[in-house]
Formats: sequence, C-alpha cells, structure tokens
Amino acid sequence: MDIFENLFSSCGDAVVIADQQAAIVYANHQARTLLGGPLTLLTETGDYDNCKLWERRHKELVPHHESLLQVVLSSQALTNHEFLLQEASAAATSITVTSHAFHLPSLNFRGVLLLMSDLSHQDPAKHANSLASRDVLTGLINRTIFMDRLQHALAKTCQDDHRLVAILCVDVTRLKAVNDTFGYLAGDRLLVEIVTRLNHSLRQADSLSRLGGDEFTILLEDVSSEAEVIAIAETLHAQMAAPFVVDDYEINVSLNIGISLSYSPNIGADTLLRQADFAMIEAKKHFGEPYRIFVGDLDTATDTSLHLEMSLKRAIHQGELYLEYQPIFLVRTQEIIGVESLVRWQHPTRGSLTPGQFITIAEKTGLIIPLGWWVLEESCRQLKEWQDSIPTAHNLFISVNMSSQQFAQKDVLDRITTILQKTGLSPTFLKIEMTESVLINNSESIIEILEAIRALGIRLSVDDFGTGYSSLSYLHQFPVDTLKIDRSFLENADSDFEKLEILQSVVRLAWNLGLEVVAEGIETQKHLAQVQALRCESGQGFLFSRPLQRAAMEAILQSPTTSSS
Ligand code: C2E
Ligand code: MG
Ligand code: MG
Repeated sequence: MDIFENLFSSCGDAVVIADQQAAIVYANHQARTLLGGPLTLLTETGDYDNCKLWERRHKELVPHHESLLQVVLSSQALTNHEFLLQEASAAATSITVTSHAFHLPSLNFRGVLLLMSDLSHQDPAKHANSLASRDVLTGLINRTIFMDRLQHALAKTCQDDHRLVAILCVDVTRLKAVNDTFGYLAGDRLLVEIVTRLNHSLRQADSLSRLGGDEFTILLEDVSSEAEVIAIAETLHAQMAAPFVVDDYEINVSLNIGISLSYSPNIGADTLLRQADFAMIEAKKHFGEPYRIFVGDLDTATDTSLHLEMSLKRAIHQGELYLEYQPIFLVRTQEIIGVESLVRWQHPTRGSLTPGQFITIAEKTGLIIPLGWWVLEESCRQLKEWQDSIPTAHNLFISVNMSSQQFAQKDVLDRITTILQKTGLSPTFLKIEMTESVLINNSESIIEILEAIRALGIRLSVDDFGTGYSSLSYLHQFPVDTLKIDRSFLENADSDFEKLEILQSVVRLAWNLGLEVVAEGIETQKHLAQVQALRCESGQGFLFSRPLQRAAMEAILQSPTTSSS
C-alpha cells in the first residue's frame, strides 16, 4: 500500500495499519523493530492466517496479545492504551498504543491506525510505573489507579450538588468453569473478549479496572441520575447476550452487577467501593437479578459477609453445624437404598442456614476443609449408629459431598481411613460425591488418589453431572462408579427436547461405561415418569422426600414400609 508507505515511512513513531480482521496491511520500519523482525503483510502474501498482528510472528509472546489488539480494534475513537508485551524469556516491556479507526472510501478500506511507542526505551521511570499500574492480561488499570481516579471524581462532585459518581462492581460468571475445563489460556482469551464487550458500553470518560480474577470495577464519573447508571448496567448485560466461543464451544457468560452512588456528600472512595461490592454479592445471591443498587448502611449490611466468615469459624468449633439426610430411592421399587448427608448451620441469631448461604464463604476462606471433614465423620458415625440399631438400615449407604479443596490435601487418604476406623463404618457403605471440577483441576494426581480411595472399598460419585462441561468420553479415564445427573436436566426436559436428548444419551453412555446413574431433583410425577422411561436406576428429589432431620429420617427407617436391599 504505497499510500501508507508515503505517509509513514519516515515517521518517528512505530506505525502499523491493520484491517478490521486485525491483519497487518502496513508496518513501517520502526514498527518492525519494535515488534521484532520481519512481519508478514497481508498485501504481500494474501495469507490471512500468517499476518495477524501478535499471532504467528510472536509465538514466543504470551498468546493473548492477539486479543489485546481486539481491544484496540474495538474502540472506535482515538484512545491511548498501554499494553505490556512479555516475551517468554525476557522481562515485560510496556508499549503505548494509540489507535484510530478510519475509512478510506477511495480504496474501499476500513482499518485501524496504530501508533506505538516503547515506554521502556523512552522513560524507565514511566515504564516501571506503567508496569505496576496495569493488569498484564487486559491492559486495564489496577486498583491503585482506579482508587486514585475515584478520589478525584468524588472531590469534583463535592463542588457540584447535581453531579454524582457511580461505581459498578461486576462479577463474571462461569469464568472459573472455563479455566477448569479449557485451561487458563482459554480463560484468558475469554476475559479479554469480555473486556472488549464491556468497553463497548462505556463512555470515553468511564474507567474500567480489573480487580483480579473475574471481578471488574467501573467508575462512572459525572452522572446525573440513578436511571442513567441503570441504563449502563443494562447495556453491559446486553453485551453478554451472545455466547462466546471457546475452543469451538459456545459459552454463555452473565454478569452480577452491584451499584453504588455517591449520594452522601462526603462519602469516602473506600466506602463507595465496599458498598458496590456488597451490592454485587447480593446480586449474586439473588440469581437472575440483573443488578443490585446498594441501599442502607454498610455497618449493618456487612454483617452478612465478614461476620458470617468469623462466626462460621466459631460454628465449626461450637457444634452449630448439623446434618440433614435426603433419602435416595430405587426408581423401580421406590425403596430407600441410601441417604445423602447435607450440611446445615444452626446460626445463633439467623436460624437454620442452608449450604447456599455459607458454602461459598467456606470455600473462599478454606473453612470448607474442617467443615468437610466434620461432615464426613458425622455422616459415618450416624450411619454406623443406624446400622447397629435399625434393622432396615443394615445395607444403607451414605453419600457425602467432598470439596475439591479436601482432595487437594496431601493426607486426604489418611484422613478418610482414620475416620472410617474411628467410626467403625465399613467402607462399602460410603459413597463420596465430588463435582466435575475435582477431576478437572487435579487430573494428574487425582486418578491415583481416587484409585486409592476406591481400593479401600469406597464408591465414588460425580455430582451435578452436566454442569461443568466434562464429557462422558473424558470421564471414563477416572475411576468413578456413579453419575448424579444435575437437576437442571430434569427441570427443563419437558419443554427442552435438546435437554431430554442429552439426558437420554448420558444415561445410555453411562451404561456402556458401566456407571450407575442417579437422577437428582425428581420433584413431580412427570419427572418420575421421565426418569423411569430413561431407565435410571435411582433418584432423589422432593417427590420422594425433602432432606430430613435426624429424627424424621429415623422415623422413616423404622416405619414398617421401609425395606432395605
Ligand atoms: P448437592 O450435593 O447436589 O445436593 C442436592 C441439593 O439439591 C440439596 O440442596 C437438596 O436439598 C436439593 N434437592 C434435593 N432434591 C431436590 C428437588 O427435588 N428439587 C430441588 N429444587 N432441590 C432438591 P442443599 O442441601 O441446599 O445443598 C446444596 C449443595 O450444597 C449440595 O448440592 C452440595 O453441593 C453442597 N453441600 C451440601 N452439603 C455439603 C457438604 O457437607 N460439603 C460440601 N462440600 N458441600 C455440601
Ligand atoms: Mg451431592
Ligand atoms: Mg447434586
């Protein structure tokens, strides 16, 4: 493209022109030096695959730079992005990229002009500073810079009663599952694409920052009303409506958004951020709510998260946890063959809490480990007591949920063996339930661990099967005995034929692999009929029985109609 050569060959900056598919059509000498050697130009080769900026040529660079370009390409206006290029063997260098989308009707060409300069060569202090202030993956500003901007914005609103500052805390769902299933590189690519879409909904003056993991914060300066902020939250949601494609799979991602606005004149940056974070956690709990706006007083509100963590620690030591038991039935005869133990927390002021209200905190803080071992011991102790005192419980098994954090412990096998010895329960009556993430996270060593557990005579179940992307063909590598099909399959099987078909093939394939199938969430006669038609051996659900407290469970076991296989 002579026109570009004429314009930019003697320009002092590194100049790259890319078309809308990110293929380089022109790079001047400085750009070739900066990006490391000869670049393949689309105009020279016509070969799309080989001329993507940051893709082939820079294999040694971390692969997500190709996606960084997408961030640049997505912003239509003149912008100033700082990106980090990190070669595998070398320290990161920081480059600023100014991009400008343009259209040349005479050449019928739409593209992006990228002006790049290497900060590390220009100003070492600025370079070091920019490394420290950016998130390497997405190029977004970090928490320090974000807080700085927030403080400035709040100071400005103090001078104008009509203006507000809003913070949005945004949590992205399913990123962990993508990391677990497809690996971190795929997760990284997804994240960068999410950032691209988020950027689409923001105005030039808004600041998007990544706090780490799957959490982002957005600063909206100079807003006039709550409605304006809600409209932005809604467009952020709308941006996620189309699925993302990861390794040929379509992944639907959604957002939990917490919003806080600077209504109080002297509110601090820290408080405003904590309020938005709190609202985000609330939005997460109320599944399906697109956003939550913080109202009220943080001191009483935070009771739910921080205090919950503190009191959960106490609860484990002070015996506030207890178990409920949900019967598992043989579908054909409706006879009880086992029970699943489900943990509950008798909170001193808030009453009985279900796992949904505290398991996430327990997982985040590692408290799931002592909690999980307590559950295993109590479950084994209880079943042994029933087996010794109630004739119909002789052959009953108990199914116990174990967290992936427990499996990651070095002494997991010793712990299980000790509990079995201490309670006197025979291992053949114990089933351990784990989610697909246990298999995926630790796949190297986990096979040995699972085999050793199985060698003790314990059976292994994969819980909530179908929610974590693992396929049956993949599953056969792992020594498991039972699949528990997630209740979402039954919930929608009525109307959703695709779900029903998946369910049918899961059951068929499980048979071929010699696995037993348990259907979860049998709530209605219709569900039961479906499960029977599928020839699932066993199931659990509200139709048979809700989870029961110990005494109620004992009453059922002692009733004359209960028989045991
Ligand atoms: P899960 O292991 O899949 O347990 C089944 C959950 O589905 C239970 O919820 C049960 O009450 C509920 N359920 C059973 N039948 C039906 C039905 O017909 N319809 C509907 N809508 N729900 C039904 P729960 O007790 O709230 O437990 C939720 C999750 O918390 C469990 O899911 C499990 O993943 C986790 N959990 C429970 N206890 C423990 C534990 O001791 N350790 C660990 N790590 N996780 C636990
Ligand atoms: Mg379970
Ligand atoms: Mg389940």
